[in-house]
Amino acid sequence: MRENSFRRIIQNFIMNMEAIPNTLTPESRFALTEPCVFLRISMIRADFYESPRRFEKTQLQQYLMYNAGDVDESNEFIMEKNTRVGTKVVYHVFGLIDEEPWTDEEKERIDVLLKMLFVFNGRSRLMISNYNLTFYDHDMQVYNLKFYFKTIAELIEQRLITQYTAMYINLKHFSAVNLQLGRKKGSEVMNSFVTHIARVAGEGGIVARIGGDNFAILCKQERTDAVMEALAGTAIPYDEVTGERILISAYAGVYVIDGEIPVNSPDGVMDRILVAIAAAKARTKHDYAFFNAEMLERNNQHLLIGSLFPSALENEEFLVYYQPKVSIDTYKIVGAEALCRWKHEGKLVPPAEFIPVLERGMDICKLDFYMLDHVCRDIRRWLDEGKNAVKVSVNLSRRHLSDMDLLQHIVEIIDRNDVPHDYIEIELTETTTDVEFKDLRRVLSGLQETGISTSVDDFGVGYSSLTLIKDLPWDVMKIDRSLLPEENNFDRKKEVMLKYVVGMASEIGLECVAEGVETKEQEALLKTTSCNIIQGFYFDKPLPINEFETRLDNYSYKKE
Ligand code: C2E
Ligand code: MG
Ligand code: MG
Repeated sequence: MRENSFRRIIQNFIMNMEAIPNTLTPESRFALTEPCVFLRISMIRADFYESPRRFEKTQLQQYLMYNAGDVDESNEFIMEKNTRVGTKVVYHVFGLIDEEPWTDEEKERIDVLLKMLFVFNGRSRLMISNYNLTFYDHDMQVYNLKFYFKTIAELIEQRLITQYTAMYINLKHFSAVNLQLGRKKGSEVMNSFVTHIARVAGEGGIVARIGGDNFAILCKQERTDAVMEALAGTAIPYDEVTGERILISAYAGVYVIDGEIPVNSPDGVMDRILVAIAAAKARTKHDYAFFNAEMLERNNQHLLIGSLFPSALENEEFLVYYQPKVSIDTYKIVGAEALCRWKHEGKLVPPAEFIPVLERGMDICKLDFYMLDHVCRDIRRWLDEGKNAVKVSVNLSRRHLSDMDLLQHIVEIIDRNDVPHDYIEIELTETTTDVEFKDLRRVLSGLQETGISTSVDDFGVGYSSLTLIKDLPWDVMKIDRSLLPEENNFDRKKEVMLKYVVGMASEIGLECVAEGVETKEQEALLKTTSCNIIQGFYFDKPLPINEFETRLDNYSYKKE
């Protein structure tokens, strides 16, 4: 009778095995129950070895028991199998205490059973690794984007998505961390940080890698604050011996998911956290931003600008406005800055609305060359018409710095228009990174050699560096309006700083231009310094060319 049922049991066993995705599930115990009863197996232990050559035990896996009872470790039957991928599995089958040792017949049957278990195991491990390949990031111990999207889709389907918060995060200064610790340690630190975040995200939370140092997070809304706190800064140990730690933090675009289900498609969620992270990075006060509808609107606006740009450039919709620079010794115009305006569908769009968008890509470079070209054409015409032409400064985005041929491009445009080099000045803002610093030095030295002057724009905004002034060959320093005392608030500190900055600049041979001068008091203050050129609404706003041209000849800005 036992013999007869053996076949049935084995078949049943195979069928059950087919249905089980993973040997660790309770069903797997069930699958083994009948054959185990039959074979009186109390426990099977499987050891997995990574490679038979190195024979390093990597995992000790599953205990499959069919009934409770004390295992007799000395009553053990062992079978080894090599897999086709070079790993090895060792099965240990134990009897219970007080049972007879395995008979040869039983051993043969166990052998059949284990062969099947081996095949099954192989299949389920393949499934697991397939799953891992599909849904895990290969370098970090987190999920990948595919899994993130899959989870969001499932939560939408289950109508649970509005209990969650989604975030897009970007680790701060990670290239500096890599430089400081080396790439290998850097990756370990990144891994520890994201696994920590995953822990903080708690049950139902997910951290998925998007690529590089960008990750997406999903957590229950009640965990939002805790996750954000961890993102604001977590000390990660990187040296086991010394216990040294490094502070890791991240920018975060946060979307507390609400609203209609269709809007919250996985793509919709991604769009929202993407615009939120962009907003977070653009901020100076906080490193995070919560999504709001306005951001999406702005993003659409940005996409629109990007798509309109090529034809706008071709149709010459961009106009050069000139803002005079005035000497406060003579009240005569001594120069001008060329500022861009976009005439779009009859309206004049200010640069703040499109320059930052164009600066996200390389389109800004095309616009800058266009501006330089148009300025050169105007100067050439003034010279030809015998007007009192002045030097014009043109803004160049820092985006140009990586262009190895920038100098040739600039010189080519100026020479093509047959404009003497001393009529052109190039305005550049300060740089922050060492790489940019090297590029900047190369560009400035080149311009100096060709007789084109250069100015450092917006000095005093952000973290102005004295090294930048000392080590680079600038001709002009443009003092930003933030260094000027405001009306009705003559701040003593600002006044002192202004005096010393101007003093220092002129001592080292830089010409000073004060930007954004609006009041008589500011002019009076500047008169006490060696900064005697003013560009500001006090004298003139940026003007369209025809108005500007009326200032060129003998116009006096003297008031009263
Ligand atoms: P910027 O180069 O610092 O230009 C000076 C800005 O200050 C101009 O703003 C000007 O209109 C404004 N301004 C001048 N005097 C006063 C004043 O008395 N009070 C106040 N409140 N503001 C004053 P605008 O024309 O809106 O340009 C903004 C920025 O856009 C420029 O700052 C520059 O960084 C950028 N930009 C403009 N045209 C171009 C361009 O052709 N290429 C590039 N790359 N950037 C440009
Ligand atoms: Mg400027
Ligand atoms: Mg400026």
